[in-house]
Amino acid sequence: MKGKLIIFSAPSGSGKTTIVRHLLDLYPQLAFSISATSREPRKDERDGVDYYFLTVDDFKKKIEDDKFLEWEEVYTGQYYGTLRAEVERLRKAGKHVVFDIDVVGGVNLKQDFGSDALAIFIQSPSFEIMENRLRERGTDSEEQLLKRLEKARKELSYADQFDHVLINDRLDDTFGKAEELIRTFAHF
Ligand code: 5GP
Repeated sequence: MKGKLIIFSAPSGSGKTTIVRHLLDLYPQLAFSISATSREPRKDERDGVDYYFLTVDDFKKKIEDDKFLEWEEVYTGQYYGTLRAEVERLRKAGKHVVFDIDVVGGVNLKQDFGSDALAIFIQSPSFEIMENRLRERGTDSEEQLLKRLEKARKELSYADQFDHVLINDRLDDTFGKAEELIRTFAHF
């Protein structure tokens, strides 16, 4: 049987990546869909593990060749996309595929895959908490941070297009709720 799609989307600073990593560590039934991006790798990131890092030209070539299930210019000049081949490979191997993608990408995948997909929106308890989390992460310049915050405000308005909204207040509680949602959905 083909695996299902489990989509996590959120404005940055909501703890989404931490939750996704936790679930992947916990359940061997899941596999991560490694996205392609044209942004520069951060210090601790590895090609083919965190992302497939591409040049803008290579990314655009893949768009022309219809290699993406969805793609977006998430920030100006920075492209991100879900590769068809990546998802197909993992689903055929019987894995449920987990996505850490932006809000618009999440809505698009959910629309395409319908009941084969579970779309979960992770939300910070407040905008201030989200801003603090982003600052503490310390991976972005001030300019980049402001861009992320501006984008986050818009993204909050998409929450109702998801199957579930999880407010990430206490991480342990959020882990538990996410675990229950995906086990119910994927029947394991
Ligand atoms: P970051 O640069 O912090 O790794 O990611 C920036 C945003 O792009 C995050 O919201 C992340 O989830 C999103 N993103 C990562 N991969 C994809 C993808 O394949 N498609 C879309 N639409 N967004 C993605």
